[in-house]
Amino acid sequence: MMIETDIAVVGGGAVGMLSAILAAQAGLRVVVIEKQPVVAAAGPAATVATMPAEFDLRSFALTAAAMEVLSQAGCLALLPSSRLSPLEAMTVWDAGSRGCIHFDAMDIGAPALGVVLENATLMQALQARARTLPALTWLAGHAVTGLIQDRPLRVLLDDGEVCARLVIAADGRNSRIRELLDVEMPGADYAQHAVVANLRTAQPHQQRAWQRFLATGPVALLPLPAADCCAMVWSTTPQAAKDLIAMPDAQFCQTLGEATEFCLGEISEPTVRLGFPLLRANVQHYVQRGVAFVGDAAHIVHPLAGQGLNLGIMDAACLIETVLDARTDGRDIGARGVLRRYERKRKGENLLTSWTMDGFKHLFGNHRRWLGWLRGAGMMAFDGAGPLKRALIARTSGMEGDLPRFARRPRGTA
Ligand SMILES: Cc1cc2nc3c(=O)[nH]c(=O)nc-3n(C[C@H](O)[C@H](O)[C@H](O)COP(=O)(O)OP(=O)(O)OC[C@H]3O[C@@H](n4cnc5c(N)ncnc54)[C@H](O)[C@@H]3O)c2cc1C
Repeated sequence: MMIETDIAVVGGGAVGMLSAILAAQAGLRVVVIEKQPVVAAAGPAATVATMPAEFDLRSFALTAAAMEVLSQAGCLALLPSSRLSPLEAMTVWDAGSRGCIHFDAMDIGAPALGVVLENATLMQALQARARTLPALTWLAGHAVTGLIQDRPLRVLLDDGEVCARLVIAADGRNSRIRELLDVEMPGADYAQHAVVANLRTAQPHQQRAWQRFLATGPVALLPLPAADCCAMVWSTTPQAAKDLIAMPDAQFCQTLGEATEFCLGEISEPTVRLGFPLLRANVQHYVQRGVAFVGDAAHIVHPLAGQGLNLGIMDAACLIETVLDARTDGRDIGARGVLRRYERKRKGENLLTSWTMDGFKHLFGNHRRWLGWLRGAGMMAFDGAGPLKRALIARTSGMEGDLPRFARRPRGTA
């Protein structure tokens, strides 16, 4: 097999697929190479789910800006409303002090801060959209084995090759492209694992997310589309994570209830628990002779503010915007000068998020008495500081800042 194309995207996860769709719908020829033989089409369709176990274990809180990119990629109409859960408010509180902050979409006159949706739902919509685009070729079940940085670039597969003017490395945290190009991804191990599960709560979540900072890490409950089902993300020590995964369901419900101060009443019907090691890592250069890194292949952040995929979506939007501008100007889409523009726009933004997550982790992980007092006082002052709080909500929900065009709602639309 030998294919010539404009762009080869390595990795058909959410960030890779979205990059491919944005480029292909603008007329560029794109080949997506995904090593998984069966792409994640299994899982929920447009059905209504009422049991915790009916929801995918991996859910994301996507910002309004990320949802706008999905909309401009033609995917929004393909996301079944029965599987979308608007995030209207959020309460964040501290186990080591009396500090508590409430975020509310109403504070900034928006209907929601974002949307909680399952990975399977998102992937199904992306894949359905990809199938409608004649310029997009999707090679599932093909792993990349080599990369030759000639002009054009040659992506070697186990059974052929793809020649492209630009290679987008969207192959996740253990990127093979990084390995092939000897690109290091320095960072730090947080010495924490995230445990995820779905569960039922006695009281309805009312579209509010809850996050409590414990000395060992934050525990969060995200509202799923069923009024009394939540997705949990609990970041804690590796040993505590092991215990949470192994403990009997009744003990797990009690432990989680205590950790979240039963903010939604008794907890029941937990699903199996899965754990992931948490890292902070960033590649130093996002571009390398015709290759651009996006998503987790470029940066990994702590999930405490649920920003990982949001950042990846902004990478995809910014990179394709830059590439389309280069095409309009008659420039080579893989030229270093073109790709450096993408790097300049995204690297600082991603690093800032990474450091902010680090700062939060250390601030809340330190339970010295005086620091707890200061933290509590700071949180309460912040909660009452209207303009500052509104500015933070607008920024973290992606309504302000230097957004790519694909993330900006066209003027005059609601
Ligand atoms: C516990 C937890 C909770 C999280 N919660 C949130 C949240 O609420 N909001 C949020 O925004 N983010 C969240 N994140 C982060 C989010 O999951 C990731 O940032 C996001 O999924 C990364 O997407 P990606 O497409 O870059 O990578 P991936 O989803 O890892 O996709 C990479 C793809 O590349 C393929 N691949 C790998 N190697 C090859 C190869 N050699 N050849 C071909 N294909 C290859 C893989 O099969 C895969 O399909 C969370 C993360 C964790 C751990």
